[in-house]
Amino acid sequence: MPEIIGEYIDRQVNIEMVDDNYPRRGKTWPLYEAAREKLGAPLTYLAAKGLIENVKQGDYVILLSGAGISPWLEWGETDGPTGIASLARAVSFGLGAAPVYVGNEKELGPVIAAGMAAGVSVLNREAIDVYKRKATALKVPFPLGEKGAKQKALEILDEYQPKAVIGVEKHAPNPLGVWHTAAGQAIPGDTQPHVHHIVDEARERGIFTIGIGDGGNEIGYGLIRDEVNEIYKAQFGGVTCKCGCGGGESTATATDVLVSTAISNWGAYGVSAMLAYMLGNPFILQDADTERRMVEAMAMAGAVAAGIGTGGTLPWVDGTSPVMQEAVVTILQEIVTNGVRRLHPGGFPAVEGVTKSDVS
Ligand SMILES: [Zn+2]
Repeated sequence: MPEIIGEYIDRQVNIEMVDDNYPRRGKTWPLYEAAREKLGAPLTYLAAKGLIENVKQGDYVILLSGAGISPWLEWGETDGPTGIASLARAVSFGLGAAPVYVGNEKELGPVIAAGMAAGVSVLNREAIDVYKRKATALKVPFPLGEKGAKQKALEILDEYQPKAVIGVEKHAPNPLGVWHTAAGQAIPGDTQPHVHHIVDEARERGIFTIGIGDGGNEIGYGLIRDEVNEIYKAQFGGVTCKCGCGGGESTATATDVLVSTAISNWGAYGVSAMLAYMLGNPFILQDADTERRMVEAMAMAGAVAAGIGTGGTLPWVDGTSPVMQEAVVTILQEIVTNGVRRLHPGGFPAVEGVTKSDVS
Protein backbone atom coordinates (compact mmCIF):
# COMPACT_ATOMS: atom_id res chain seq x y z
CA MET A 1 0.00 0.00 0.00
CA PRO A 2 2.68 2.64 0.78
CA GLU A 3 4.12 2.11 -2.68
CA ILE A 4 0.71 2.79 -4.26
CA ILE A 5 0.34 6.01 -2.26
CA GLY A 6 3.92 6.94 -3.15
CA GLU A 7 3.23 6.37 -6.84
CA TYR A 8 0.51 9.02 -6.89
CA ILE A 9 2.32 11.41 -4.59
CA ASP A 10 5.30 11.22 -6.96
CA ARG A 11 3.02 12.12 -9.86
CA GLN A 12 1.32 14.93 -7.92
CA VAL A 13 4.66 16.64 -7.27
CA ASN A 14 5.89 16.15 -10.83
CA ILE A 15 3.31 18.18 -12.73
CA GLU A 16 5.26 20.84 -14.58
CA MET A 17 3.64 24.30 -14.73
CA VAL A 18 6.53 26.72 -15.25
CA ASP A 19 6.55 29.88 -17.38
CA ASP A 20 6.76 29.36 -21.11
CA ASN A 21 10.36 30.54 -21.36
CA TYR A 22 11.58 28.95 -18.12
CA PRO A 23 14.86 27.09 -18.68
CA ARG A 24 13.59 23.84 -17.18
CA ARG A 25 10.59 23.54 -19.53
CA GLY A 26 10.05 19.93 -20.60
CA LYS A 27 12.64 18.36 -18.33
CA THR A 28 10.57 17.49 -15.27
CA TRP A 29 9.26 14.14 -16.43
CA PRO A 30 12.42 12.86 -18.18
CA LEU A 31 14.43 13.66 -15.03
CA TYR A 32 11.81 11.90 -12.88
CA GLU A 33 11.76 8.83 -15.11
CA ALA A 34 15.55 8.56 -15.02
CA ALA A 35 15.59 8.70 -11.20
CA ARG A 36 12.70 6.28 -10.95
CA GLU A 37 14.35 3.79 -13.27
CA LYS A 38 17.56 3.98 -11.26
CA LEU A 39 15.86 3.47 -7.89
CA GLY A 40 13.06 1.12 -8.96
CA ALA A 41 10.28 2.36 -6.65
CA PRO A 42 8.34 5.60 -5.97
CA LEU A 43 10.88 8.21 -4.91
CA THR A 44 8.91 9.86 -2.08
CA TYR A 45 8.17 6.39 -0.70
CA LEU A 46 11.85 5.42 -0.67
CA ALA A 47 12.79 8.70 1.03
CA ALA A 48 10.17 8.33 3.79
CA LYS A 49 10.96 4.65 4.28
CA GLY A 50 14.65 5.45 4.70
CA LEU A 51 13.88 8.17 7.25
CA ILE A 52 11.63 5.89 9.27
CA GLU A 53 14.24 3.12 9.25
CA ASN A 54 17.18 5.35 10.17
CA VAL A 55 15.89 8.20 12.36
CA LYS A 56 14.78 7.66 15.96
CA GLN A 57 13.53 9.98 18.69
CA GLY A 58 16.16 12.49 19.77
CA ASP A 59 18.33 12.01 16.67
CA TYR A 60 19.57 14.94 14.60
CA VAL A 61 18.70 15.33 10.92
CA ILE A 62 20.72 17.77 8.83
CA LEU A 63 18.69 19.87 6.36
CA LEU A 64 20.57 21.73 3.62
CA SER A 65 19.01 24.51 1.58
CA GLY A 66 19.78 27.78 -0.11
CA ALA A 67 19.75 28.40 -3.85
CA GLY A 68 20.94 31.98 -3.48
CA ILE A 69 23.74 33.55 -5.45
CA SER A 70 25.46 36.53 -3.88
CA PRO A 71 25.11 39.44 -4.43
CA TRP A 72 21.74 39.44 -6.24
CA LEU A 73 20.06 36.57 -4.40
CA GLU A 74 21.56 37.40 -1.05
CA TRP A 75 18.68 35.99 1.03
CA GLY A 76 18.01 33.05 -1.24
CA GLU A 77 15.02 32.20 -3.37
CA THR A 78 11.57 30.88 -2.55
CA ASP A 79 12.19 27.33 -3.75
CA GLY A 80 13.88 25.51 -0.90
CA PRO A 81 12.95 27.16 2.42
CA THR A 82 9.35 25.93 2.72
CA GLY A 83 10.44 22.46 1.60
CA ILE A 84 12.99 22.43 4.41
CA ALA A 85 10.34 23.77 6.80
CA SER A 86 7.91 21.01 5.85
CA LEU A 87 10.56 18.35 6.42
CA ALA A 88 11.55 19.98 9.72
CA ARG A 89 7.93 19.68 10.83
CA ALA A 90 7.66 16.11 9.56
CA VAL A 91 10.80 14.75 11.22
CA SER A 92 9.98 16.66 14.43
CA PHE A 93 6.28 15.83 14.73
CA GLY A 94 6.55 12.41 13.10
CA LEU A 95 9.84 10.98 14.31
CA GLY A 96 10.72 13.14 17.35
CA ALA A 97 13.99 14.14 15.70
CA ALA A 98 15.71 17.54 15.83
CA PRO A 99 16.38 19.32 12.51
CA VAL A 100 19.73 21.06 12.02
CA TYR A 101 19.57 23.79 9.36
CA VAL A 102 22.97 24.20 7.69
CA GLY A 103 23.68 26.85 5.05
CA ASN A 104 24.78 30.34 4.15
CA GLU A 105 23.87 32.47 7.18
CA LYS A 106 21.74 35.02 5.32
CA GLU A 107 19.82 32.29 3.52
CA LEU A 108 19.00 30.60 6.82
CA GLY A 109 16.70 33.57 7.63
CA PRO A 110 13.85 32.54 5.31
CA VAL A 111 14.36 28.88 6.30
CA ILE A 112 13.96 29.69 9.99
CA ALA A 113 10.94 31.94 9.31
CA ALA A 114 9.22 29.26 7.23
CA GLY A 115 10.08 26.62 9.82
CA MET A 116 8.54 28.68 12.61
CA ALA A 117 5.42 29.17 10.49
CA ALA A 118 5.32 25.38 10.13
CA GLY A 119 5.50 24.96 13.90
CA VAL A 120 9.22 24.36 14.50
CA SER A 121 11.15 26.74 16.76
CA VAL A 122 14.89 27.44 16.69
CA LEU A 123 16.71 27.32 20.02
CA ASN A 124 20.17 26.28 21.18
CA ARG A 125 21.45 22.77 21.70
CA GLU A 126 20.96 22.82 25.44
CA ALA A 127 17.21 23.25 24.93
CA ILE A 128 17.13 20.07 22.88
CA ASP A 129 19.69 17.85 24.60
CA VAL A 130 19.11 18.89 28.23
CA TYR A 131 15.55 20.19 28.34
CA LYS A 132 14.26 17.83 25.63
CA ARG A 133 12.36 20.55 23.83
CA LYS A 134 10.25 19.10 21.03
CA ALA A 135 9.64 20.64 17.60
CA THR A 136 12.88 22.54 17.91
CA ALA A 137 15.64 23.03 15.33
CA LEU A 138 19.22 24.31 15.42
CA LYS A 139 20.88 26.64 12.93
CA VAL A 140 24.49 26.18 11.85
CA PRO A 141 25.89 28.84 9.46
CA PHE A 142 28.29 27.51 6.84
CA PRO A 143 30.99 29.72 5.24
CA LEU A 144 31.06 30.52 1.52
CA GLY A 145 33.71 29.09 -0.81
CA GLU A 146 35.77 25.93 -0.86
CA LYS A 147 38.43 27.00 1.63
CA GLY A 148 37.91 25.13 4.89
CA ALA A 149 34.57 23.71 3.72
CA LYS A 150 35.50 20.06 3.96
CA GLN A 151 36.89 20.49 7.48
CA LYS A 152 33.72 22.31 8.54
CA ALA A 153 31.62 19.49 7.08
CA LEU A 154 33.54 16.89 9.07
CA GLU A 155 33.16 18.93 12.26
CA ILE A 156 29.39 19.20 11.80
CA LEU A 157 29.01 15.46 11.25
CA ASP A 158 31.20 14.70 14.28
CA GLU A 159 29.29 17.11 16.47
CA TYR A 160 25.72 16.13 15.65
CA GLN A 161 26.12 12.49 14.54
CA PRO A 162 23.06 12.92 12.28
CA LYS A 163 21.06 9.89 11.19
CA ALA A 164 20.02 11.52 7.92
CA VAL A 165 21.17 14.37 5.67
CA ILE A 166 18.69 15.98 3.24
CA GLY A 167 19.34 18.61 0.57
CA VAL A 168 16.42 20.60 -0.90
CA GLU A 169 17.17 22.70 -3.99
CA LYS A 170 20.80 22.83 -2.89
CA HIS A 171 23.22 23.48 -5.70
CA ALA A 172 26.49 21.56 -5.94
CA PRO A 173 29.35 21.46 -8.48
CA ASN A 174 29.93 19.02 -11.31
CA PRO A 175 32.97 16.67 -11.28
CA LEU A 176 35.16 19.52 -12.58
CA GLY A 177 34.16 21.68 -9.63
CA VAL A 178 31.98 23.99 -11.77
CA TRP A 179 28.59 25.14 -10.42
CA HIS A 180 25.65 25.78 -12.76
CA THR A 181 22.27 27.49 -12.81
CA ALA A 182 19.32 25.49 -14.17
CA ALA A 183 19.87 27.41 -17.42
CA GLY A 184 23.35 25.93 -17.75
CA GLN A 185 25.36 29.06 -16.91
CA ALA A 186 28.32 28.87 -14.52
CA ILE A 187 27.97 30.16 -10.94
CA PRO A 188 31.11 31.40 -9.11
CA GLY A 189 31.90 28.74 -6.50
CA ASP A 190 32.96 31.34 -3.93
CA THR A 191 29.34 32.61 -3.75
CA GLN A 192 28.17 29.22 -2.47
CA PRO A 193 28.36 27.29 0.80
CA HIS A 194 30.06 24.02 -0.16
CA VAL A 195 27.76 21.89 1.97
CA HIS A 196 27.90 19.04 -0.53
CA HIS A 197 30.97 17.92 1.45
CA ILE A 198 28.56 17.04 4.26
CA VAL A 199 26.64 14.74 1.90
CA ASP A 200 29.76 13.17 0.39
CA GLU A 201 31.22 12.46 3.82
CA ALA A 202 27.87 11.27 5.22
CA ARG A 203 27.75 8.66 2.47
CA GLU A 204 31.27 7.54 3.40
CA ARG A 205 30.04 7.05 6.94
CA GLY A 206 26.90 5.15 5.91
CA ILE A 207 24.51 7.93 6.97
CA PHE A 208 21.21 7.97 5.03
CA THR A 209 21.09 10.78 2.45
CA ILE A 210 18.29 12.30 0.33
CA GLY A 211 18.61 14.85 -2.47
CA ILE A 212 15.47 16.75 -3.54
CA GLY A 213 15.75 18.85 -6.70
CA ASP A 214 14.08 19.97 -9.88
CA GLY A 215 16.84 20.88 -12.32
CA GLY A 216 19.69 18.38 -12.26
CA ASN A 217 22.13 20.93 -10.80
CA GLU A 218 21.27 20.13 -7.18
CA ILE A 219 22.63 17.71 -4.57
CA GLY A 220 21.41 14.21 -5.39
CA TYR A 221 21.52 14.24 -9.18
CA GLY A 222 25.00 12.70 -9.16
CA LEU A 223 23.02 9.47 -8.87
CA ILE A 224 21.88 9.86 -12.49
CA ARG A 225 24.58 12.17 -13.81
CA ASP A 226 24.93 10.63 -17.26
CA GLU A 227 21.17 10.67 -17.79
CA VAL A 228 20.87 14.33 -16.68
CA ASN A 229 23.63 15.39 -19.03
CA GLU A 230 21.98 13.55 -21.94
CA ILE A 231 18.67 15.31 -21.22
CA TYR A 232 20.42 18.70 -21.21
CA LYS A 233 22.41 17.84 -24.32
CA ALA A 234 19.18 17.44 -26.24
CA GLN A 235 18.00 20.84 -25.03
CA PHE A 236 21.26 22.77 -25.29
CA GLY A 237 21.98 21.71 -28.88
CA GLY A 238 24.56 19.01 -28.25
CA VAL A 239 26.44 20.39 -25.23
CA THR A 240 25.82 19.35 -21.63
CA CYS A 241 26.03 22.90 -20.22
CA LYS A 242 26.29 26.41 -21.59
CA CYS A 243 29.44 27.61 -19.82
CA GLY A 244 31.84 25.62 -21.94
CA CYS A 245 33.46 23.75 -19.05
CA GLY A 246 32.61 20.42 -20.63
CA GLY A 247 31.74 18.84 -17.27
CA GLY A 248 27.99 18.98 -17.72
CA GLU A 249 25.05 20.48 -15.84
CA SER A 250 24.63 17.60 -13.42
CA THR A 251 26.21 17.64 -9.99
CA ALA A 252 28.80 15.11 -8.89
CA THR A 253 27.06 14.70 -5.54
CA ALA A 254 24.88 11.61 -5.31
CA THR A 255 22.50 10.61 -2.51
CA ASP A 256 20.97 7.29 -1.48
CA VAL A 257 17.56 8.55 -2.64
CA LEU A 258 16.98 11.25 -5.24
CA VAL A 259 13.53 12.86 -5.28
CA SER A 260 13.28 14.49 -8.70
CA THR A 261 10.29 16.80 -8.86
CA ALA A 262 8.64 19.73 -10.68
CA ILE A 263 9.47 22.19 -7.86
CA SER A 264 11.86 21.24 -5.08
CA ASN A 265 9.54 22.42 -2.29
CA TRP A 266 6.85 20.10 -3.62
CA GLY A 267 9.23 17.15 -3.61
CA ALA A 268 9.89 17.82 0.06
CA TYR A 269 6.13 18.10 0.71
CA GLY A 270 5.77 14.73 -1.03
CA VAL A 271 8.28 13.17 1.38
CA SER A 272 6.46 14.76 4.34
CA ALA A 273 3.17 13.41 2.96
CA MET A 274 4.63 9.90 2.72
CA LEU A 275 5.92 10.18 6.29
CA ALA A 276 2.45 11.28 7.40
CA TYR A 277 0.86 8.36 5.60
CA MET A 278 3.33 5.71 6.75
CA LEU A 279 3.18 6.96 10.36
CA GLY A 280 -0.64 7.12 10.17
CA ASN A 281 -1.01 10.79 11.10
CA PRO A 282 -2.03 13.47 8.53
CA PHE A 283 -1.06 16.23 11.01
CA ILE A 284 2.61 15.50 10.29
CA LEU A 285 2.13 17.19 6.88
CA GLN A 286 1.30 20.90 6.99
CA ASP A 287 -2.23 21.82 5.92
CA ALA A 288 -3.16 24.52 3.40
CA ASP A 289 -3.58 27.29 6.01
CA THR A 290 -0.17 26.50 7.43
CA GLU A 291 1.32 26.41 3.95
CA ARG A 292 0.06 29.95 3.36
CA ARG A 293 1.75 31.09 6.56
CA MET A 294 4.95 29.34 5.50
CA VAL A 295 5.28 30.88 2.04
CA GLU A 296 4.39 34.33 3.36
CA ALA A 297 6.89 34.06 6.23
CA MET A 298 9.61 32.95 3.82
CA ALA A 299 9.01 35.86 1.45
CA MET A 300 8.80 38.39 4.27
CA ALA A 301 12.16 37.13 5.54
CA GLY A 302 13.72 38.05 2.20
CA ALA A 303 13.48 35.04 -0.10
CA VAL A 304 12.78 36.13 -3.68
CA ALA A 305 10.66 34.45 -6.31
CA ALA A 306 12.01 33.03 -9.54
CA GLY A 307 9.80 33.02 -12.64
CA ILE A 308 6.86 35.39 -12.25
CA GLY A 309 7.87 38.15 -9.86
CA THR A 310 11.57 37.48 -10.37
CA GLY A 311 13.53 39.40 -7.80
CA GLY A 312 10.49 40.27 -5.71
CA THR A 313 9.96 39.03 -2.17
CA LEU A 314 6.67 37.42 -3.12
CA PRO A 315 5.17 34.12 -1.93
CA TRP A 316 5.35 32.67 -5.45
CA VAL A 317 7.57 29.66 -6.18
CA ASP A 318 9.19 28.98 -9.55
CA GLY A 319 6.45 30.94 -11.30
CA THR A 320 3.55 29.32 -9.44
CA SER A 321 1.16 31.30 -7.26
CA PRO A 322 0.56 31.15 -3.50
CA VAL A 323 -2.82 29.54 -4.21
CA MET A 324 -1.01 26.80 -6.11
CA GLN A 325 1.20 26.02 -3.12
CA GLU A 326 -1.93 25.62 -1.01
CA ALA A 327 -3.55 23.52 -3.74
CA VAL A 328 -0.66 21.07 -3.86
CA VAL A 329 -0.73 20.70 -0.09
CA THR A 330 -4.51 20.29 -0.16
CA ILE A 331 -4.24 17.42 -2.63
CA LEU A 332 -1.42 15.76 -0.68
CA GLN A 333 -3.43 16.12 2.55
CA GLU A 334 -6.42 14.45 0.90
CA ILE A 335 -4.30 11.55 -0.36
CA VAL A 336 -2.86 11.02 3.13
CA THR A 337 -6.11 11.52 5.04
CA ASN A 338 -8.08 9.15 2.83
CA GLY A 339 -5.13 6.76 2.79
CA VAL A 340 -5.22 6.30 6.57
CA ARG A 341 -9.03 6.45 6.91
CA ARG A 342 -10.83 3.16 7.22
CA LEU A 343 -14.42 2.97 6.04
CA HIS A 344 -16.62 0.72 8.12
CA PRO A 345 -20.26 -0.33 7.92
CA GLY A 346 -22.40 2.36 9.47
CA GLY A 347 -19.46 4.72 9.81
CA PHE A 348 -18.35 7.83 7.97
CA PRO A 349 -18.48 8.25 5.07
CA ALA A 350 -21.82 6.53 4.84
CA VAL A 351 -21.80 5.12 1.33
CA GLU A 352 -24.52 2.56 0.87
CA GLY A 353 -23.27 -0.87 -0.04
CA VAL A 354 -19.61 -0.10 0.61
CA THR A 355 -17.94 -2.30 3.19
CA LYS A 356 -14.41 -2.34 4.53
CA SER A 357 -13.54 -5.30 2.33
CA ASP A 358 -14.39 -3.21 -0.72
CA VAL A 359 -11.94 -0.48 0.08
CA SER A 360 -9.08 -1.94 2.08
ZN1 LIG B 1 29.74 24.09 -17.51
